[in-house]
Amino acid sequence: MSPAKNDHVDVALVGAGVISTTLSVMLRELQPDWTQLIIERQDIPASESSDPWNNAGTGHSALCELNYTPEVNGKIDTTKAVNINEKFQVSRQFWSYLVENGTLGDPSEWINATPHMSFGHGEKQSAYIKARYEALKDNPLFPDMHLTTDPEEFTAKVPLMGKGRDFSEQVALSWIDAGTDINYGALTRQYLDAVTAQGVEVRYGSQVTNVTREGSGWKLTVKNLHNGDTTTVHAKFVFIGAGGMALPLLQKAGIPEIKGFAGFPVSGQWLRCTNQELVDQHAAKVYGQAAVGAPPMSVPHLDTRVIDGKKGLLFGPYAGWTPKFLKQGSNLDLFKSLRPGNIPSYLGVAVKELGLTKYLVTEVLKNQAARVESLREYMPDARDEDWELVTAGQRVQVIKPAKAPTFGTLEFGTALINSADGSIAGLMGASPGASIAPSAMLEVLQACFSDRIDAWTPKLKDMIPSFGGKLSEDLALYNQQWDRSQKSLKLA
Ligand SMILES: Cc1cc2nc3c(=O)[nH]c(=O)nc-3n(C[C@H](O)[C@H](O)[C@H](O)COP(=O)(O)OP(=O)(O)OC[C@H]3O[C@@H](n4cnc5c(N)ncnc54)[C@H](O)[C@@H]3O)c2cc1C
Repeated sequence: MSPAKNDHVDVALVGAGVISTTLSVMLRELQPDWTQLIIERQDIPASESSDPWNNAGTGHSALCELNYTPEVNGKIDTTKAVNINEKFQVSRQFWSYLVENGTLGDPSEWINATPHMSFGHGEKQSAYIKARYEALKDNPLFPDMHLTTDPEEFTAKVPLMGKGRDFSEQVALSWIDAGTDINYGALTRQYLDAVTAQGVEVRYGSQVTNVTREGSGWKLTVKNLHNGDTTTVHAKFVFIGAGGMALPLLQKAGIPEIKGFAGFPVSGQWLRCTNQELVDQHAAKVYGQAAVGAPPMSVPHLDTRVIDGKKGLLFGPYAGWTPKFLKQGSNLDLFKSLRPGNIPSYLGVAVKELGLTKYLVTEVLKNQAARVESLREYMPDARDEDWELVTAGQRVQVIKPAKAPTFGTLEFGTALINSADGSIAGLMGASPGASIAPSAMLEVLQACFSDRIDAWTPKLKDMIPSFGGKLSEDLALYNQQWDRSQKSLKLA
């Protein structure tokens, strides 16, 4: 066997999904002299959550997702929505910079303009959609927001949802045309093409099986999954972008910051439309409200996709359950992640999240007829034969430790964990991870390379002009960057 090229590197990144590759590109821009190695257990990149059919491809910026605008004491709280939107503006600026400097290729291979819509039916949901519209419509981060309650306009906007509907029940639909559909798999591959052309090695078919301290850096044990050989990689800085496996690998590293954290796997399924005539009649991502007691990740949506230049249509997600931490993982993943330190976290969630348990049991018992019945809430004329079931990516929801008597709490976002000395970090959790990866990786840089941030700031401002500030507080810069990204990303 020929010796591995990069056994001693400045930076080792575990996983070739959208998160590690975002950091890889960022670090190449900031510190091109650092050696980097990406280690991936599969033979191809982005075959787990970042694969386009394994996630919904929504460019999450809170334009339509109702879980980011909860009603609190009769008022719509827009704090989370503005926060997610700000983070997505970071992504737009970063991608524009990379397209403009030729690092990324044709953006239409991975990002496409797709209206984002929010849907409510019945008196209560419709009143909420209207209140949300009123709360957001004058905020520049939510440009040109519209609302209709008129059946004719509703049917003209979303024909599949209007046809066959009994409009004696109220409906409300709000929309912003400037939403996006993103193929995170294609974006990952463009990132990889760029960094490998600049000397970054990607080692496929190679699984990191252990992570141990070595002086001020780390030693990774890597198993070649084709011939069983084991090698070691020595790195000054390690990033664990291993999706659902980030938790077990951070546990192996033994850093105190991961103590008490646990992971709750939830698998997803979509109904994918097989009838191209129907696919062509829908052009939007339409998000509704989660069923009572159901978690935010279960919010149903009828979603246009653009994958490899072809339009698709999906509805879901439906939840399933397996103890695996990756779609192509092992049934032992959950059990192997149990530690004396995180058992109270699991117990806390088991007691507090009875609604989640009930939701999962109901979902797992759904057959095709029951799934299409749920779809009919959105598309009244849906027929079983036009839809096939596909398995989506595996989510591992983060359970954060908390002190007794509350024990653990289930989180529905993403969580960054890093060691106090900044030599290792990892990202756990699911949505909105891919959409806000550039902003999450800026957090990694700030947490792990605080001694370099000052020197990197001019370049960071070049890459992300709003770096260090907020676009919501600088309208002129927001307008300038919005117009720039609409043009550079071919969204206008
Ligand atoms: C059903 C669903 C819907 C979603 N919808 C959206 C959405 O609409 N918008 C959005 O922004 N986000 C969405 N997300 C979240 C998004 O998909 C993730 O945030 C993102 O893909 C995570 O990227 P990643 O690189 O961290 O993980 P992954 O893409 O899972 O990549 C991790 C990689 O690490 C590799 N790996 C794991 N363990 C090891 C090891 N020990 N050694 C070597 N390699 C290893 C894996 O093989 C994999 O390739 C969704 C997720 C799911 C599951």
